[in-house]
This record gives sequence, C-alpha cells and structure tokens, in this order.
Amino acid sequence: MRGRIGIGYDFHRLSAGWRLVLGGVVVAHPYGVVGHSDADVLTHAIIDALLGAAGLGDIGTHFPDTDARWEGASSLELLGRVMEMCRGASLAPVNVDATVVAESPRLAPHIAGMRARLAEALGLPEGAVSIKAKTNEGLGSVGRGEAIAAYAVCLLETCTGQRKSRR
Ligand code: MG
Repeated sequence: MRGRIGIGYDFHRLSAGWRLVLGGVVVAHPYGVVGHSDADVLTHAIIDALLGAAGLGDIGTHFPDTDARWEGASSLELLGRVMEMCRGASLAPVNVDATVVAESPRLAPHIAGMRARLAEALGLPEGAVSIKAKTNEGLGSVGRGEAIAAYAVCLLETCTGQRKSRR
C-alpha cells in the first residue's frame, strides 16, 4: 500500500439565526455557522484533508463561495463529489481523524451521529472515522463562543483495479 497523507483546517464565525451543522448533523444551538454552503466546518476540514492528500487543490478551488450552485449546499454532498475526484485519481481513504474546537454546545452526544454520516460519505467503517471535540478553555474567539474550528487528517491509499469493500 502506498499512502498519501493530507491535513485540513476550517474556521467559521458563529452568529444568531444560522443553523449549526457539524459532520452532517444539525446541532441545536442558539448560534449557527455563517457561511455560503451549510458551513459545516468539520466536513470542510475533512474535504480539505482529502483534497490535500490527493494533491487536488482545496475546497475553495472546487466549490468557490462566489458560485451560486454551492449556496446552502450540503457539505456531505460536496464530500461525495470530492470522493468521486479521489476515485478518479485511483485513491481511496484509509482513515480520517478530526478534532472540532467549540466552546459550546457540548458535542459528545452528537459524535456518534457525525461518525455514522461521515463514514457513509467516505465509504469507510465507523471505526476508521475518528471525531474528537475540545473546548478552547474560554480563550480567544473560539473560547468566547464567537467561532468554531476544525482540524482533520486523512490517509489515502492508491487503489489499482477493483477495490474490495471495506464494510
Ligand atoms: Mg468552511
């Protein structure tokens, strides 16, 4: 197996009147994420990790916020498109590890749902999709609840010919 590693990072402002979508899960919170698509900061970080590992640019290259097609788009759908690009380059994910940094709400109850949705979109077993949640100890814009950040790494393997199902 020849592996390719990628890193992704995303950061979005929180504001009243917006939905908070993380890893494809709508999280109940008085503040949501300001953005062009559904602004799913976790899925965006994973998309950039995949694109980085594949050497295929970044999320802004493929889904620019100046393009009306992506307004309100589901980030899981964008992830599906990125998976198609990876398949086209004969690359498939081995695993993803991500951390969401948010002061509130408490994300632990939502982690299982995020893993399930992301694993499905990535064609991976849930055990190969790790999602962790941290606070920022009350410091900085994330700590003040003004923003949310996410980091992700992923490993892609080159796949030749017919790939066995990982499920
Ligand atoms: Mg983003």
